[in-house]
Amino acid sequence: VSEVHVAAGSLRGAVLNPAADGRLQVWPCAEVRWVGGRISEVVACDGPADRVLLPGFVDLHCHWPQSHVRGQFGGQLLPWLRGAIWPAEAAFADPSVASARAEAFLAELLRAGTCAGLLFGPPFLDASLTLLERAPRGFFDGPALMECNAPDALLAPVASTLDQLATVAPEVRRRLVVSPRFAPNVTAAGLDACGQVATRWRLAVQSHLSENLDEVAWVRALFPEALDYTDVYDRSGLLGPRTVMAHGIHLSERELARLAATGTWVAHCPTSNEALQSGRMPLERLRAAGVSWVLATDIGAGPLLSQLDAMRAFVEIHRGFADATATEALARATVLPGQFLAQLDPACAGLGTLTPDAPAHVVALPLPPGHAGPRTSDDAEALLRAMLHSPRANLETLPCEVVCWGRTVAGA
Ligand SMILES: [Zn+2]
Repeated sequence: VSEVHVAAGSLRGAVLNPAADGRLQVWPCAEVRWVGGRISEVVACDGPADRVLLPGFVDLHCHWPQSHVRGQFGGQLLPWLRGAIWPAEAAFADPSVASARAEAFLAELLRAGTCAGLLFGPPFLDASLTLLERAPRGFFDGPALMECNAPDALLAPVASTLDQLATVAPEVRRRLVVSPRFAPNVTAAGLDACGQVATRWRLAVQSHLSENLDEVAWVRALFPEALDYTDVYDRSGLLGPRTVMAHGIHLSERELARLAATGTWVAHCPTSNEALQSGRMPLERLRAAGVSWVLATDIGAGPLLSQLDAMRAFVEIHRGFADATATEALARATVLPGQFLAQLDPACAGLGTLTPDAPAHVVALPLPPGHAGPRTSDDAEALLRAMLHSPRANLETLPCEVVCWGRTVAGA
């Protein structure tokens, strides 16, 4: 007798279901049901609801080996990397450190409501493989590739690290991300090797682009033959719809047009931009150019694992400059990054939504005090804003329950 164990479950509350086109489906009270790890149906019920149900968050830019040192700043980007981050990541060469930190990070990330994402590892392939062994399907990770301009303990020839991917089992390899840390840490030949390997194995690519003016000047000095910072990656074949570039703050019109033309995604990390004083990302210019973008935490420059904190900072930072609603922030932290991951794994189809057949990732949050619950999308905007105004330190543990692939992973 073959018996398939199909775990079923449900949660009840006011349901906010974001769509990729920016619309928000609102259920004043509904039951979200799932079977076998996927949502089976959403059924209206009689209220009042006492909690809010959102899809699990999706974070496309998060450095897991920095989670234990987040919030420790030593000035702007380059001194912070050299003084705080690189020494912290060097410790992950020790497999016992990597395994303990991977375990702790995943527990905290799921607790914060993030059920899928693209992660940046330390510069050691084994550490990324350790993380992937423990992470639910829907998480992707790559070692930060570094071969120059950093302490020796972090450096290895990029081409030889990439050669090792051939020995990784195919089902694991497709969850690896080609992750040149940023242009200053990789030679032009190393970047070419990244582009070739990403094409050969059809892997996602992630890196950093134009976060800080000192960084931009450094790249110009290191790659005088390139048109600009974006071109450094472009000439190695590293732009495209399976690529996420973090930040993109200081870009020319040519660069924005090139990102749009190649379908490259930008991860906008407003809490990180605040913390490292990198400047406000010119959201209105990205919109005008038609660049695809999502919201991300950029742990550990971003101090909190919660996408709610990135949503809060997004609404605040762009006030007076660009239209930035909490409703849009929700879509940029769920369904849109979910669409990026669905390109990499068909099991991720529907990720970041609460619709039938989507992965059963659900975050239940308390209704803010005094809030009656939403009946319309205007109410939902007000409700989301009220949730984002919770004391910032509480945001990571605000979810009362988190469900990932139909399994309760926090709360309840
Ligand atoms: Zn980053």
